[in-house]
Amino acid sequence: MNRLLGTIAVIVIVTSTIISQNVGAPGERKGSGTVVLKAARVIDGTGAAAITNGVVVILDDKIMAVGPASSVRIPSGAKVIELGDATLMPGFIDGHTHIVGRVLGDPEAGGSTFRDPDSFLTLLGARNAERTLMAGFTTIRNLGAPNFDDMTLKRAINEGWIPGPRIYGAGHSLGITGGHCDENGFKPGVADGDFKTGIADGVDQVRAAVRYQIKYGADLIKTCATAGVLSEGTAAVGTTQYTYEELKAMVDEAKKAGRKVTAHAHGAEGIKIATRAGVASIEHGSFLDEEGAKLMAANGTYLVPTLMAGEGVEKLAKNNVLRGLRAEKALSAAAAMRNSLKIAVANKVPIAFGTDSGVILHGTNGHEFTLMVEWGGMSPMDAIVAGTLNGATLLGAEKTIGTISVGKFADIVAVPGNPLTDIKRMENVTFVMKNGVMYKQPN
Ligand SMILES: [Zn+2]
Repeated sequence: MNRLLGTIAVIVIVTSTIISQNVGAPGERKGSGTVVLKAARVIDGTGAAAITNGVVVILDDKIMAVGPASSVRIPSGAKVIELGDATLMPGFIDGHTHIVGRVLGDPEAGGSTFRDPDSFLTLLGARNAERTLMAGFTTIRNLGAPNFDDMTLKRAINEGWIPGPRIYGAGHSLGITGGHCDENGFKPGVADGDFKTGIADGVDQVRAAVRYQIKYGADLIKTCATAGVLSEGTAAVGTTQYTYEELKAMVDEAKKAGRKVTAHAHGAEGIKIATRAGVASIEHGSFLDEEGAKLMAANGTYLVPTLMAGEGVEKLAKNNVLRGLRAEKALSAAAAMRNSLKIAVANKVPIAFGTDSGVILHGTNGHEFTLMVEWGGMSPMDAIVAGTLNGATLLGAEKTIGTISVGKFADIVAVPGNPLTDIKRMENVTFVMKNGVMYKQPN
């Protein structure tokens, strides 16, 4: 090769390296090398008793070993992190979030859904996602977002641009015209939806709406089977919306594409219709009765209680942020929620953790564990399993996340002290690892 060609070749190589560094996505954030975590306790998320003086060995993005210090071999050259009197657990899973947009009651919203540009709401979503991750939630199930903004956030996180949890998104929530998943209270034409934005009536439109959400990346389908607390309109909170036939078509259509359906349902009747139609989970379940609980248990239908949403809207009603019928609905649903989780637990309904964040502040999600114990009477261990293994199982992701088990992704968090004796510890996460990458460490 003559000298000139050689020089050109060097220039080409140097330039292409610079281009690939500046233009390409950062790439999925993955841990590298061997890391050993040591803590006074390890709760593996399966419901098994805590391991005392526990050790977890991680290689790159996967868990290689877990057990008591006396039986786990520490690989030479490993980076060892001593967490002391802390409890290691699998990364938490919030099964009900609204990660895109403003939080309910944000005074900057100016009282209108239509004031903020969509791009602005997505940017807020990035901040919400980071707060959620830093609170120990390494995975979320996002139940409804406009414009497939949940898919945008998921892509940005997965390509490594921004920190955030693993996102399983539903796209637009499916609902009847004028129902809880619709935008109400505006003059005709301003907020008319169609199957693309999730507003669908009758079996054919419902099928089209499912197909459309899946076409643009929905990992699951969310629907409103009953009226809700926050929607404008005159319907009582528990009023049924979709018929059995519509819900059945939705479940069948989703199933063909390997997707599950989850139903927002407050009223006892709506819960039963959705459960019979084959949804994977019921969200809120405020007015669940014995018959509904037995039906859910028999069908293996999960309840995602969202007690924080109940507590949150109750406060907003008492502070006059919510007024009129919305305030009345908030107070009655919150009162009922204090019983419904107890009824579910007594009837052995599987429980998965969910907060309805967006109704509550992103990053405060861990408080739901406290309410599951204090309102629902669950044991701290059962609440932890609801927020780890059960969350993963409901997502159909139990083979890769949800427990500290060999071969699973290294999604691991820690709280100081022992959450089995003080559940409030779950609200103070001091260590966060997702996919083997450390996002938070105690000082
Ligand atoms: Zn919700």
